[in-house]
Amino acid sequence: MSDELHLTLEGRPVTLGVRRSRRARRMRLVVEAARGGAVLVLPAGAGERDGRRFVAEHAPWLLRRLAELPQPVPFRDGAVVPYRGVDHVVRHAGSARGPIERGVVWRHGGAIHVAGRDEHLARRIRDWFRHEARNVLGPLAETKAAVLGERPARVTVRDQRTRWGSCSAKGALSFNWRLVMAPDAAIDYVVAHEVAHLVELNHSPSFWRIVDRLTAHREDGRSWLKAHGDGLHRYGAVHRYGTVLAAT
Ligand SMILES: [Zn+2]
Repeated sequence: MSDELHLTLEGRPVTLGVRRSRRARRMRLVVEAARGGAVLVLPAGAGERDGRRFVAEHAPWLLRRLAELPQPVPFRDGAVVPYRGVDHVVRHAGSARGPIERGVVWRHGGAIHVAGRDEHLARRIRDWFRHEARNVLGPLAETKAAVLGERPARVTVRDQRTRWGSCSAKGALSFNWRLVMAPDAAIDYVVAHEVAHLVELNHSPSFWRIVDRLTAHREDGRSWLKAHGDGLHRYGAVHRYGTVLAAT
């Protein structure tokens, strides 16, 4: 069985991701923007026919959940994409070049300009965002850690699907590159949260006291992420399971 399932629900063609799991005890459907839509989790012993029947039984629920997902915004000319909470228009600059030190992608006048061939545009923007995330989150984490007399072992930027940041027991911090799209208050809160884990690897009251020492944005940062964080996964989405492939 392939890792995709194509089926028709209430007359609409739908593609689902399929994930086999040895630990799963029963079939389930996961619908999350961060996972690119709907994924059917199949335990050992369940086959495609079981999966199809299961999905059909849950069709109304599934279609409702899919309709609620944020629509993907692929990186292409004209797309509106946030950078540090401010919307920017993506502009394909073709053979034009920006200021020499900024390379093939540069931010200017409310736009993100991308030089080069069109087929490289999405990858270049993605690389640029990751680079920006490293440049924004790395120094911020170092500065906050210094307040505690600490130093992160490492700060990396990754494509984490379910978390905005994490801190390992060895003091390595990692952040989701899409965090750099969020407003500064949310960025500040997430970085403060992970840096506080350098001292307290738990969420005890003393952990939260450290967070409050490191940021003034615990409440507004958290509530922004709760309300809008999931929506950041729409940007640069290349493939989305559960997309209703209606003819247009
Ligand atoms: Zn935590």
